[in-house]
Amino acid sequence: MVDVRYTTAFELYPYQRHADQDKGAPQRHPVVVVGGGPVGMAMALDLGRKGTPVLVLDDHAGVGQGSRAICFARRTLEITDRLGCEQRMLDKGVVWNVGRVFHGEQEIYDFNLSPDEGLRNPAFVNLQQPYFEKFLVDQIRVEQERGTPIDIRGCNQVTALHDHGDFVSLDVDTPEGPYTLEADWLIACDGARSPVRDMLGLGFEGRVFEDNFLIADVKMSAPFPTERWFWFEPPFKNAGQSALLHKQPDGIWRIDFQLGWDIDRKKELEVERIRARVDAMLGEGVDYELEWTSIYTFQCRRMEKFRHGSVLFAGDSAHQVSPFGARGANSGVQDTDNLAWKLDLVIKGLAPESLLDSYSDERVFGADENILNSSRATDFLTPKSRVSKTFRNAVLQLAQHHEFARPLVNSGRLSVPCVYDNFPLNGEDLLNGPAATRVGASCVDATLDEGFLLDRLGNDFVLMGINVALPESLQAEGLHIRMLALSSGNDPIGNLQARYLGDNNAGVYLIRPDQHVVARWPDFNAARVQAAVKQAIGKG
Ligand SMILES: Cc1cc2nc3c(=O)[nH]c(=O)nc-3n(C[C@H](O)[C@H](O)[C@H](O)COP(=O)(O)OP(=O)(O)OC[C@H]3O[C@@H](n4cnc5c(N)ncnc54)[C@H](O)[C@@H]3O)c2cc1C
Repeated sequence: MVDVRYTTAFELYPYQRHADQDKGAPQRHPVVVVGGGPVGMAMALDLGRKGTPVLVLDDHAGVGQGSRAICFARRTLEITDRLGCEQRMLDKGVVWNVGRVFHGEQEIYDFNLSPDEGLRNPAFVNLQQPYFEKFLVDQIRVEQERGTPIDIRGCNQVTALHDHGDFVSLDVDTPEGPYTLEADWLIACDGARSPVRDMLGLGFEGRVFEDNFLIADVKMSAPFPTERWFWFEPPFKNAGQSALLHKQPDGIWRIDFQLGWDIDRKKELEVERIRARVDAMLGEGVDYELEWTSIYTFQCRRMEKFRHGSVLFAGDSAHQVSPFGARGANSGVQDTDNLAWKLDLVIKGLAPESLLDSYSDERVFGADENILNSSRATDFLTPKSRVSKTFRNAVLQLAQHHEFARPLVNSGRLSVPCVYDNFPLNGEDLLNGPAATRVGASCVDATLDEGFLLDRLGNDFVLMGINVALPESLQAEGLHIRMLALSSGNDPIGNLQARYLGDNNAGVYLIRPDQHVVARWPDFNAARVQAAVKQAIGKG
């Protein structure tokens, strides 16, 4: 029998018997994704859209209820745009760019995460995680109608894994009994407690933070602005060491209280106690309903590497961070962005298997950056000694009057994509262009005369020339390289120039399918482009 560990918010893939269960011998699949959370579904959508058949096994019949991620970052919006379901996130989500930081009663400062013009997407949308997962699954259904080779099997729980070197076999339990499958490649997207990780006897390294956070999602119509409000040492009664107020769709607000380590969890979850805290925060006479309450603790840790032969780990199964900074699901989606094109090329025989090691190297680096930011935020929120608390409070006081101290205030540095500086897949950086779009960085959006730049980059290797003549087409290492010829005439507000050329008059960028820059030059040279493509697919 398949364990039911949580109730579902949306039942999206009820159990259905599959022909594989009635075959005498285990059926082999090119890719099996274990776990249909946001990372597993994004992975399946990306691979399937590239034409690589993918099977998702999830132990439930749909998306879990509960309050987890709410903040989805610009990079996630850009990736989901590529996957075809961003508009629904924007339509449903609460767009925000401004945050305010308070210390006790005092507002210390505010910040705007998106002061730049010329970006299609906001810094963040707030959206309940179940909606995000539903939109991904709905998009998979759309793709299935078009013949995209993605299969989802609900109530299929992986109970054992056997590594045969160049393939794996899996024991799968279902409501109608067990069966066995084989996979050339297995992607473990089975969450923080990852049964696959345990089945392979693999460990996890990092820190456990000794703190408890109370979530209260409340439904109310009070006119708080659509901003992130964060309090250090909140002035309202029993609010703990920090508190957060954030708007979600459907008139719901996320309130987060930092309770400390030594608490009686059962008592803290009593409705009257929670209501007393919320009443003190929202003030007299605010009418609200409690939609969801829970207490969470967290860890900052990662696996040593994310590839183990034919098994690849992505999302929370590979790395975990505190929720401050919204780096969990956002970084998991970046894992899929990095892995999908590489695995697709390997399966199609266009790149060597060793390209997959670069997935591990690049995303371990990304995870470390997230863990560092997350740990620092946690240390700032919960100073571990009297001296660090004195320092923290001095920074908060200074920040109120002096701008230079504001970058030192850390209530969670919000998720941004990492730059793969100096990694082996990178090519030449000969342009002397802007740092933000250097080799290894993910492309920054820009307004074009028609639409936005990222819409034109899409899903494959692209050679972008600005004020440079490009050939009609280019093949390199068996890949078709798409040409994107732009000029100053396509640059109505000048941010293509500012973001990609700087002081140069012209430039050429080679861009990977995950929209990270491979190489850039002042002019077009076919041999240099060929060499950079070779390098970028792990043949260099
Ligand atoms: C309070 C809180 C707030 C957060 N806020 C944010 C935020 O604002 N922004 C953000 O980016 N992140 C946030 N996160 C983190 C985010 O929720 C996680 O990073 C995200 O859910 C990870 O997705 P995943 O797909 O890797 O794993 P999961 O969402 O855990 O999905 C794993 C899936 O695998 C399935 N599964 C497990 N075992 C098996 C098995 N044996 N066989 C088959 N299926 C299996 C599970 O049922 C599940 O469907 C927050 C987390 C918490 C707790």
